[in-house]
Amino acid sequence: MNPITYIEAGDVTGALYHSRDQGRAFIAGGTNLIDLMKEQVARPQALVDINGLALADIVAGADGGLLLGATARNADTAYHPLVRAGYPLLTAAILAGASPQIRNMASNGGNLLQRTRCHYFYDLATVCNKRAPGSGCAAIGGLTRQHAILGASDHCIATHPSDMCVALAALEAVVHVESADGARRIAFADFHRLPGDHPELDTTLAPGELITHIALPPAANFAAHSAYLKFRDRASYAFALVSVAAMLDVGDDGVVRAARLALGGVAHKPWRVPLAEAALVGRRAEPAAFAHAAELLLASAQGQGGNDFKITMARRAVIRALEQALDGTHDNSHEFTGKEPT
Ligand SMILES: Cc1cc2nc3c(=O)[nH]c(=O)nc-3n(C[C@H](O)[C@H](O)[C@H](O)COP(=O)(O)OP(=O)(O)OC[C@H]3O[C@@H](n4cnc5c(N)ncnc54)[C@H](O)[C@@H]3O)c2cc1C
Ligand code: SF4
Repeated sequence: MNPITYIEAGDVTGALYHSRDQGRAFIAGGTNLIDLMKEQVARPQALVDINGLALADIVAGADGGLLLGATARNADTAYHPLVRAGYPLLTAAILAGASPQIRNMASNGGNLLQRTRCHYFYDLATVCNKRAPGSGCAAIGGLTRQHAILGASDHCIATHPSDMCVALAALEAVVHVESADGARRIAFADFHRLPGDHPELDTTLAPGELITHIALPPAANFAAHSAYLKFRDRASYAFALVSVAAMLDVGDDGVVRAARLALGGVAHKPWRVPLAEAALVGRRAEPAAFAHAAELLLASAQGQGGNDFKITMARRAVIRALEQALDGTHDNSHEFTGKEPT
């Protein structure tokens, strides 16, 4: 048994003070961190509980966008009227993940920082550069069904498991963070990293930095034509093999004015290729244009053997998600208005 210290932070200043030393970790919903501690993958000496911080609100931003508090629960975020009205893609992505019970506990900040579901990462009997830098990667040459087809390195082929983050990437969210050195904002595209030589680093967050908010820019004209499509091994309660966030702004003439595409389950971070989105603009919203965008999005895809199927699956998923977005946003949250039934 590893003894740990537990500290309840009352405000942001206190949370930052208590997290100043190495070996300390913030805890929000605990749905990922506690699992990692039980498996001995994470061994913090102290837990700084941030659930008491005034960071659970979801409010309109001064710029016409939305500010999601870091400790707001995933369920509260998905069902919030302002999210459902302006950012139905985010609602759909959150509700595609985990289970009602987990979404009721999971926080927005924690969702961004959840760790990979690579089996070897959780298995202390195997080598893993993410868990023990320099030890090797058991997944390379091993079981790779879940692993990356884009942006992998010789040191790690893990994927980022979040659904919410795929939508946040497409929405071009901005992560607000604070540390003892002050506050800064990180564009979502720069928040998660590719593994490169340092797969132990999932994000560009510095040690001790606290996520306070996630800012969504003004909704633009995408709300009417967005879709989140997720393929997984079970109908529910499973991580994505491939997922797609698709958003279209289409004129009355059927021509695309703007487009956003992000892939999940295929890389160490949500995968976007600006060229693929630009290729849709000015073209009629039809299957040939969608197929071309899918080709561009997956141009550098490379399978690892056990996950080669993901390349075809992702191409088809992109086309289907764009078709669904064109048909019109489907509101999958109408049955509920508040906390999810457990
Ligand atoms: C069985 C199961 C199935 C799941 N299925 C899915 C799925 O299909 N799709 C999906 O997207 N997710 C899924 N999840 C993951 C779930 O969404 C995450 O576990 C959850 O979002 C993490 O949030 P949390 O608040 O519980 O984080 P915690 O476990 O409390 O923390 C996670 C990490 O974030 C850090 N942290 C938390 N908040 C902050 C902050 N504000 N600032 C800085 N650091 C912070 C912690 O130190 C820790 O390192 C599943 C989880 C489980 C257990
Ligand atoms: S893919 Fe990454 S997380 Fe999985 S074993 Fe290799 S280094 Fe570890």
